[in-house]
Parts: sequence; structure tokens; C-alpha cells
Amino acid sequence: MDLHITIIGAGVVGLAIAAELSKKHENIFVFEKNSGFGQETSSRNSEVIHSGIYYPQNSLKTELCSVGNRLLYDWCDSYRVPYQKIGKFIIAINEEDCENLQLLFNNGIKNNIPGLKLVTSEEFTEIEPKIKAKKAIFSETTGIVDSHSLMASFEAYASNNGATFAYNHQINNISKIKGGYNLKILSGNETFFYTSEIVINAAGLMADKIAALPGINPDEADYQLSYAKGHYFRLKPGMSNLAEHLIYPVPQKNWIYREVSNSVLIYIICPIIFWIILMSRELRRNLLNQFIVMLPLLNLMTFRKTKWEYGQNCRKKAKVSEISLSMKNQIKVSPAFGI
Ligand SMILES: Cc1cc2nc3c(=O)[nH]c(=O)nc-3n(C[C@H](O)[C@H](O)[C@H](O)COP(=O)(O)OP(=O)(O)OC[C@H]3O[C@@H](n4cnc5c(N)ncnc54)[C@H](O)[C@@H]3O)c2cc1C
Repeated sequence: MDLHITIIGAGVVGLAIAAELSKKHENIFVFEKNSGFGQETSSRNSEVIHSGIYYPQNSLKTELCSVGNRLLYDWCDSYRVPYQKIGKFIIAINEEDCENLQLLFNNGIKNNIPGLKLVTSEEFTEIEPKIKAKKAIFSETTGIVDSHSLMASFEAYASNNGATFAYNHQINNISKIKGGYNLKILSGNETFFYTSEIVINAAGLMADKIAALPGINPDEADYQLSYAKGHYFRLKPGMSNLAEHLIYPVPQKNWIYREVSNSVLIYIICPIIFWIILMSRELRRNLLNQFIVMLPLLNLMTFRKTKWEYGQNCRKKAKVSEISLSMKNQIKVSPAFGI
């Protein structure tokens, strides 16, 4: 075989796997279709280090999230990746929220998430005077990380251990052969063929397509993807002292997800995430309606599309829509409308 281990995709997952495997294995190749690492979902997210409070008990997601939380902070300390363990408040603003908040807190305790605390309205106001809440959960282990530096550290670590990164190389076909796989790889106008003993699929949003190449049926194997899309809004410079912590509303039924944060590299961002199921026409219409409903509530003054955003380390951020908000001194974060 030409290669021992092939990793498809240099997003944060492929990079982290490469770093870990490079401790013990040689002849590792990472193939990435873009010109560098982390140019897709891994550079278009909120950069939050989650605690694992939300996920079902005894699930793999809970286990990986809570162990990963600890390992990620350790890695950042060891390799000087910028992060801030700023903590997060999940807030309730009405009675129904308070019930959901208590259920969420109980879930977190059963998941053994460390550093969770219920906070009264008065305690919360003292810490975050510009935001109102009836009750809140404080999650001490939630933080934010500079995702570009994190990915760069994984790449450097794996490279130092001998792993090879082949950018502008797209895996085009995979077939099973005795003792491994045959890979067809495109780079520009050239086509290469390699054999590899082990192939690791870390292709993110293309993972189902990659799995299908050697004949795995994504439906039968339960590899279907659920798409999520985020819209990020930046507050005007000068308004970045709105909150000291991450602030999340309690998840609702049919929830739209919002957060407010001071990120490591940029000002405050307020992402709105909504799940997209196959982007049907009906869904698009619903999303548009939701957005239109939100506009007056956002006290919108200007709304314009911006080009690519770059953070201090030339970190690529998602294409964002920039919003200038007229804010009063007191801001009420409502789960119905966000800010
Ligand atoms: C709006 C939003 C906010 C989020 N916020 C958070 C957060 O705060 N905290 C958190 O932990 N997670 C967050 N996530 C989730 C997180 O971003 C993803 O789980 C993570 O980035 C996935 O990384 P990945 O490496 O699997 O995928 P990707 O980053 O998509 O990497 C996959 C790579 O595979 C490459 N590839 C695909 N096909 C091929 C091919 N045929 N040949 C070669 N290369 C190929 C792609 O080019 C890509 O670079 C968020 C996600 C979204 C959408």
C-alpha cells in the first residue's frame, strides 16, 4: 500500500485526528480540496467550547463533549492557543422559561457537567447589569477559542510528527480493494491514484457523499446529515461591552438559537442559527417570515451585506450581514425575539 492512513478533509475534525494519530503512526496523508485548512464549517462557527449540558444522558455526544471540553483546554494551554474560559449564562425571562431552565439544569447535573450553578435574578443583574433575567444557569466550563489558531496548532503538531498535508487535492473516488482502499484524487487538471490501508472520512458536509463512494449506503448506515445555517450580526463598535459572558436563552420548542458573546478576536457577535431540512421552498418562506418579523424588533437602523470578514490573525469568518443596532442602556434579551 502507498499510504498507511488517509484522512479526507482538513477541517478541525480531520486536523485533530491527524494530530492524535501522528503520535503513534507514520505515513499519514491528509487530503483537502481547498487551498488550506479550515475553509469551510470550521471557520464559520461561534468558536464556543461547549460544556455538554444540553445533550441526552448516557449519549456519546454528552461523553465526547464533556471529555472534549477538558482536553481542549489542556491542549490550548500546552500549545498556546488563545482562549477565554468566560463562562456562559442560560437565562429565563418568564415562568415557562424557568420551568425549562430547571429541567435543563437537572439534565446537566445528571450528565455530570462540572461548574453548573443556578443563579437568581438579583445575582444575575449584579453580574450582567445590561441584561434582564428571572433566573439563570451559570456554566463555568463554557468558553471561547480562536478556532484558526486551534487548527493551525493541530496542523503544526501533525506535520512535526511527519504527517503530510496535500491541499488542493480532492478525493474523487474510493473503491475497496484487498487490505485497503484505492483512491482517485484530483488536483487541478491532474489525476492521481493511491492505495491506502485505512481511510478516515472527515469531510464535513460532504461526509455522506464520501461514505457513498466505496458503496456505503448513508441511509442504512445512519449517516444522514442535518444541515444548520448561522447568520452572524455584528454590533456597532463601542457596544461590545454589552455582556461579559456568553448569554443564551433557554432552548424552546421550535427554537431559534441566539447568543451574545465577546469573542476572542472580534467584537460582540449575535449569531442566529436555524436548522434547514433540505431547504424546501416552504422552509425558505418560513425563514424569510421569521426574519421579517425580527426586523422591527431589532431596532434596525442599517442593514448591509459585507464582504469576507477577517479577524486579527487573518482568520476567515463567515460571510456576514452587518447590522447596526440602536440600543438603549437596558437591553432585554427575549427568547421570542433575541436582540
Ligand atoms: C453556524 C455554526 C455555528 C457553530 N458553532 C459551534 C461552536 O460554537 N462550537 C462548536 O464546537 N461547534 C460549532 N459548530 C459546529 C462546528 O463548526 C463543526 O462541528 C465543525 O467545524 C465540523 O468540522 P469538520 O472538520 O467535521 O468539517 P469541515 O470544517 O466542514 O471540514 C471538512 C473538510 O473536508 C473537506 N472535503 C470535503 N470533501 C472533500 C473531498 N472530496 N476531498 C478532499 N477534501 C474534502 C472540505 O473542504 C472541508 O475543509 C457550529 C456550526 C455552525 C454551522
